Amino acid sequence: MSQDCQRPAGLGMAARRVTRQVLYGRVAVGGAAPVSIQSMCTVPAAARERALTEIGALARAGCQIVRVAVKDDDDLEALPALCAESPLPVVADVHFDYRLAVGAAERGAAGLRINPGNIGAEERVRAVASAASAAGIPIRVGVNAGSLEKDLRGLAAKDLAGALCESASRHLEAIAAMGFENLVFSLKASDPGVTVEANMRFARGNDFPLHIGVTEAGPALSGAARSVVALTRLLTAGVGDTVRVSLAGDPVSEVLVASAMLTALGLRGDFPRVIACPTCGRCHIDVAAIAGRIEREINGCGRGISVAVMGCEVNGPGEAREADIGVAGSPKGAVLFRRGVVEGPLEGDCAEGLLARIAEMLRE
Ligand code: SF4
Repeated sequence: MSQDCQRPAGLGMAARRVTRQVLYGRVAVGGAAPVSIQSMCTVPAAARERALTEIGALARAGCQIVRVAVKDDDDLEALPALCAESPLPVVADVHFDYRLAVGAAERGAAGLRINPGNIGAEERVRAVASAASAAGIPIRVGVNAGSLEKDLRGLAAKDLAGALCESASRHLEAIAAMGFENLVFSLKASDPGVTVEANMRFARGNDFPLHIGVTEAGPALSGAARSVVALTRLLTAGVGDTVRVSLAGDPVSEVLVASAMLTALGLRGDFPRVIACPTCGRCHIDVAAIAGRIEREINGCGRGISVAVMGCEVNGPGEAREADIGVAGSPKGAVLFRRGVVEGPLEGDCAEGLLARIAEMLRE
C-alpha cells in the first residue's frame, strides 16, 4: 500500500508558497502542513443531531475542518455541545452580528469565519478579534464577489479580481493594526478565472495562509469541474493551504472531489484511490453503487490504499489484481482479489463484503 506523495512532473508543480501556520484544533493550516480539506454543514448549529450526522459522514470521507452557520442565539446555545461531540474542528460562520462571533469564540469554536465588511464598525471587528485572541483561535477573513464594500463596486465593475484583492488587503491591514494576526484569508468569486487572479495577486503581498475555493460553483458535476479548474491552477502555482470545493447538494461530494484533486496533484498521499470501470453491457455487478459506497466510507482512513471495482471478467481481473484489493463481476457474482491473488467468490452483499475485507486489511 503506497502512501508516498509524489508530485507528477507533467503537471509542472511549483514550490508551495511559504506561509505562516494557524491551528484549527489539532489541524494545522499553512506552513509545512499538507493542504487540508474542509466543507460546511447544510444545517445550522441548532440542528445539532443532523449536523453531527453530517459531520460524521464528512469525517469518514476525509474532511478535516467543518464550518457551521451560527446565525442566531439558538445556534450559539447549541455550539458548545456540537463542538464537544464533533470529530472535526468546528468553525463558526458568522455574518452581520458581531456578538454571535464573540459568543462562538467563547463557546468552543475552533475558528471563526467572518466578512469584516458586513460585521460593521471597527470596534465590532476589534471585539471579535479580541474574543478570538482570548480563545486562541484563528479568524478566516472571507471576501466574496457578492458582498464587496460599496466603495469598491466601481473598481469591481472593471476589475473584479482587483476589487477582491483590495478588500482583503484592507481587512488585513485593519485587523493586523489591532494586533491580531492569527488569520487566514479567502477571496472567492463564482468565476474560476477571477478567483485565480484575485488569489494570485493577494498571495504576492503577504504570508498569511489562503483558504481557496470557487464560491457558488454550481451543481455537483459542473460545479466540481469549475472548482477543479481554478484550484488546480492555484495549487500548481504553489498557492493555497486549505481547500473547499463548494457544491450544491451533499457536502460529502465536496470532500471526495477535493481529495481526488489533491491526490492527482501529488499534494496528498493519504487518500485511498478507488478505481471503477465505466461499465457496459457485460457488467454483472452494480459498479457505481459499490464504488461510490466504498469511497464514501473509506476515503478518510488515512491510507493510500487502492481499491478496484470492475464490472466483468474482461478487464476486471487485470485491474483488480493491480490494486491492493478489488472485486470483479462474474456471471455468478463478484470475485475478490487481494494483493494480486484471487481469493474466490465474495458471498453476500458485495459492498458490505468488500468493506469488511478492506477494514481487515487496514488493521493488518
Ligand atoms: Fe465493461 Fe467489463 Fe470493461 Fe467494465 S470491465 S467496462 S463491465 S468490459
